[in-house]
Amino acid sequence: MSEFVYSQKPIPIEHGEGVYLYAEDGTEYLDFGASYAVSPVGHCHPEVVSAVQEQAAELLFVHASYPTESRDSLYEKLATAAPSGLENVWLCNSGTEANEAALKFARSATGKSKIVAAKRGFHGRTMGSLSVTWKPKYRAPFEPLVDDVEFVTYGDEDELAAAVDDETAAVVLEPVQGEGGVNPATKSYLQTARDVTAESGSALLFDEIQTGLGRTGALWACEHAGVTPDILTTAKGLASGLPIGATLCADWIAEDAGSHGSTFSGSPVVSAAAEATLSVLVDENLPAHAAEMGEYLQFELDAANLPVRDIRGHGLMVGIEVKRGANRVVKELALSHQILALPAGRSVLRLLPPLTVETEHLDRVVAALSDVLEGGK
Ligand SMILES: *Cc1c(COP(=O)(O)O)cnc(C)c1O
Repeated sequence: MSEFVYSQKPIPIEHGEGVYLYAEDGTEYLDFGASYAVSPVGHCHPEVVSAVQEQAAELLFVHASYPTESRDSLYEKLATAAPSGLENVWLCNSGTEANEAALKFARSATGKSKIVAAKRGFHGRTMGSLSVTWKPKYRAPFEPLVDDVEFVTYGDEDELAAAVDDETAAVVLEPVQGEGGVNPATKSYLQTARDVTAESGSALLFDEIQTGLGRTGALWACEHAGVTPDILTTAKGLASGLPIGATLCADWIAEDAGSHGSTFSGSPVVSAAAEATLSVLVDENLPAHAAEMGEYLQFELDAANLPVRDIRGHGLMVGIEVKRGANRVVKELALSHQILALPAGRSVLRLLPPLTVETEHLDRVVAALSDVLEGGK
């Protein structure tokens, strides 16, 4: 089944440490994909590993109806990390579930049903999240999906304003689209989204599953625009690779959230991993480090004069639009330079390294890109 669902990667990985992954044959790979942004603090960070080990020895699981210390400390930590006003925390097991909850909460709190989403947006693969995900390849085999979703052109303020009306429950957006090709929104677009949702009484939902946790050089990408949504979702690297998602909500959403639940919500071991990951992110000042490294990378990429169509992104979320297939570049980087990167669609190479990278790693990636891209001119 797994071979059916996932195309097999030719590199069997045995262990990881910091920014490196190690194959069974001992080869060291520089991890610039972080398995889709799942290792913000680096692989096997000692504080995360020991938090997991200690919690596993004490209590593997008890349902959320029993307060436990690790879940309570995570609630507190997430409420502190949340943008001001989004202190209500719902925990689940993945990104798509965090968005499912967000869509349900928005409908329940507003009593309306219409959802406005963006073309090229990606929000997950369960029925609700898939309904607001744009790509026909992901949607078509499973239709009909959840009804009453309208797609607008990402970045077009007039189109967005025209789509949001009295029937709208929520507008859902990624502050930088990830799967859709690393497309950053302008401040003005996110501000318009805030204005039109506030005016119509609908919820603004930011999917920060890829952009959050310091990735763009701030703890949350929406901080750059000075815009606070009503709901923010996070997942991916929140527990350094253990399955988790979180939906952070304003009071008016949480008050009328209706009934929703999950057996594993905030399970002890996962909560301990997330608490430790957030502590490391904050204590090691990783969002600021990501901002600095992101600027350095952008500068070096520009200076290298690569034969590419575009270089864009924010912090350590970087997209390089190449002239020929991105998959070919990903493969050559891995096999010839032992650097693991990701595609975003057919033509964009995506870099999402752990936030702990240093300039020496960035230099190595820029040099490898020069080699691979020049060779393919
Ligand atoms: C990965 C991702 C999701 C889905 O998360 P899963 O944990 O794979 O369900 C949703 N939204 C964005 C922006 C993502 O990058």
